[in-house]
Amino acid sequence: MRVLAFGAHPDDIEFRMAGTLMKMKKRGDEIFMCIATNGNIGSYGKTKDEIAAIRHAEAQASADYIGATLLWLDEEDEFMFDIEKTRLKFIEAVRIARPDVIFAPPAGMRDYNQDHDTTGYLAFQARVLATVKAILPELPVIDHIPPLFYCTPMGLCHGYNPQYFVDITEEYEDKMKMFKCHDSQQGDWCRDAFGVSYNDILTNEVRYWASCAGTPNVEYVEAFELCERWPIIAGAHKLLP
Ligand SMILES: [Zn+2]
Repeated sequence: MRVLAFGAHPDDIEFRMAGTLMKMKKRGDEIFMCIATNGNIGSYGKTKDEIAAIRHAEAQASADYIGATLLWLDEEDEFMFDIEKTRLKFIEAVRIARPDVIFAPPAGMRDYNQDHDTTGYLAFQARVLATVKAILPELPVIDHIPPLFYCTPMGLCHGYNPQYFVDITEEYEDKMKMFKCHDSQQGDWCRDAFGVSYNDILTNEVRYWASCAGTPNVEYVEAFELCERWPIIAGAHKLLP
């Protein structure tokens, strides 16, 4: 099976899907990690070009850890919009990955961050538009529309209702190792910027979803919501690990 995960920022996939991707890799799936923005405002002290280059290398290291193909769309951090050139990049990513299943952040203003929201919306559009021959005719279209699963948003959202809970207890250490590839985002900078530790957020989130699921002996969970817009792919949940 082929799997395409979209993240808005270079470390977003690690936060909300990496355990699931590792689980899919272990069962033999081919993984594509597509990062929409270059993370070029994710630093104090470095220039935009410097931090973007660092974050590209960190994302590559994380993709290498899981044996995934990295697709780097190089959009401007916090200034990515649903415009033609950006939408075409998402369609191109879907055509390259030819996924059986897509993961993305939840669309529909359900996350605090506009890049997350836009990434979810463009993934939602691209999964259908990637079948349309008149768009980017030089790239072969995909032969079926894959289901789209939305990962959890950052923090509480009353409109987010996950139905699927992936036990990542065995993959938690791998998830952390992938997350720690993003060395520029560890340490003081996010504490200075947001007053919180990314490390703590990541661990607390997967523990929270495990608690919500309530399955005995399951310590860490990544949760997903099936995109319930046409076409809804029957039996999509069977694709999850
Ligand atoms: Zn993000």
